Amino acid sequence: MSEDDGGIPMNMGLNDRVAVVTGGSSGIGLATARELLRNGAYVAICGRDANRLAHAHAELVGLAGAGRVLAVQCDVLESGQVQALHDAVMAWRGGCHLLVNNAGQGRVSTFADTDDAGWREELDLKFFSQINTIRAFRKTLSHDGAGAIVAVNSLLAYQPEPHMVCTSAARAGVQNLLKSLACELAPAIRVNSVVVGLIESGQWRRRFEVRANRNLGYDAWLADVAARRTIPLGRLGKPEDVAQAIVFLGSSAAHYITGARIEVSGGLSRQI
Ligand code: NDP
Repeated sequence: MSEDDGGIPMNMGLNDRVAVVTGGSSGIGLATARELLRNGAYVAICGRDANRLAHAHAELVGLAGAGRVLAVQCDVLESGQVQALHDAVMAWRGGCHLLVNNAGQGRVSTFADTDDAGWREELDLKFFSQINTIRAFRKTLSHDGAGAIVAVNSLLAYQPEPHMVCTSAARAGVQNLLKSLACELAPAIRVNSVVVGLIESGQWRRRFEVRANRNLGYDAWLADVAARRTIPLGRLGKPEDVAQAIVFLGSSAAHYITGARIEVSGGLSRQI
């Protein structure tokens, strides 16, 4: 709840904390950066595409001021670049309290049409987008004994889809890894995840561009996807819906929560 809602604002304890959001130049990552800034944090974002990053940086500076935002071009699969991101954040603010591992995308392919290279690429993306950043930021996050990591993962980890076979398997492995890390990094760093359903973002815009049914506009096409997937809340999620859950898990409001996950799927999840 925010003051804008007319209610009593929850103190998230993020004021002047330093957060890093990988893949912060689009979709869920960008919405998370906005939400963290609204909660008084300093925010560093990264992404690979320089133009997209510059665009997001300008928007965030407009929201919170230049001193509050850092943008670093970085591919999270390149450990040297991730170390450079860490060093840039240290040079900027001298510490980091929250790491949001969000960068990535899903792979649409069945078992029959995924070759070895496809499997390796997907396993590499899902695991090393966690491993590289956690390795680089681990010591810094543990510094004041109250660090937090929030990973953005998919419901596919628990509810695999045959048409997304390797991304489903890789995401299940990541949830397993995060559970181990919640033990190994405790008590100095909490490790949690959000598992998302279908969230309207760059990924869905790209799928819309290559859609089979060319009769529908973007909004009608999204409504059709939500109806066909029988999402109980009747729509795809917005990046902001996920950002709220990420900010909660990364904040001191969640200080006794580790090794946990929050589903943000509009009820799409069928397991109990
Ligand atoms: P977007 O495509 O809108 O954003 C993805 C972000 O990640 C971009 O900023 C992109 O920037 C960045 N990125 C991708 N690969 C790398 C990389 N190797 N190194 C650094 N940055 C990278 O997608 P979403 O917001 O939807 O996705 C966010 C996360 O949520 C992803 O991990 C995705 O898999 C997950 N997710 C999303 C779902 C959805 O329905 N939207 C469903 C399930 C999971 P750039 O390309 O310039 O590097």
